[in-house]
Amino acid sequence: MLRSLLSPLQRRRARLVVRAILDAVAPPHCPACGGPSDGLCAPCRGRLERLPARGCARCGEPVGAGPGRGCTADHAPLRGLAARRAAWRYRGTGGDVVRALKFTGDPAALQLAARAVALRLRDLEPRPSRCALVPVPMHPRKRRRRGRDHAAWLAAEIGELTGARLLVGALRRVHDTVPQSDPRVTSRAANVAGAFAIARPRAVRGRRIVLVDDVSTSGATARECAAVLTAAGAARVTLLVAALG
Ligand SMILES: [Zn+2]
Ligand SMILES: [Zn+2]
Repeated sequence: MLRSLLSPLQRRRARLVVRAILDAVAPPHCPACGGPSDGLCAPCRGRLERLPARGCARCGEPVGAGPGRGCTADHAPLRGLAARRAAWRYRGTGGDVVRALKFTGDPAALQLAARAVALRLRDLEPRPSRCALVPVPMHPRKRRRRGRDHAAWLAAEIGELTGARLLVGALRRVHDTVPQSDPRVTSRAANVAGAFAIARPRAVRGRRIVLVDDVSTSGATARECAAVLTAAGAARVTLLVAALG
């Protein structure tokens, strides 16, 4: 609501004020380990595994230089997705930042992740203003429990940084599934089958959709979302995540 009432300049000023207040309340700290630091501390930076800016066009994994040295990664998990980009690997510091974003709602973790992911968006969509960012939705019951939908929070910040439009509410999670990482889950694909539905078909039809999530492991959640969006007429569906598990 507030976002739509403010001009971009007013929003930028409001963000600076909020940042100053947060800095006063919570002194600068490392978004991964919480230690005193302005940004990532040196040890955490050393354990951050970045994915390359110029990797495989489809999956974003590093590719060797020279003829015949193409991507050797398995593209089967990307079925239904035109491409995928991630800022970091989940192991090491990438996972620490994602957990800080997800479980403590640390604004410093959000800022770090959003800035890194925004750079990868330009690799997927050279003109971000022409695409729509669709956060992988959380079930309303889970959002009430958590108090925040971290994928929507990340997508909103990426939108602010890149000018890409945020499309929230077009895709809904209709089943409150067990988390994919839960040991009770024997098939991640079966766990999310039928979990998503389109709420606003006209908002999706003909659009270039960039799905946004904090982490992707098996890709089952993104594949399920992509299938639903494509069936609703999306022109292209890609996946953008902070960390790759
Ligand atoms: Zn640290
Ligand atoms: Zn590849």
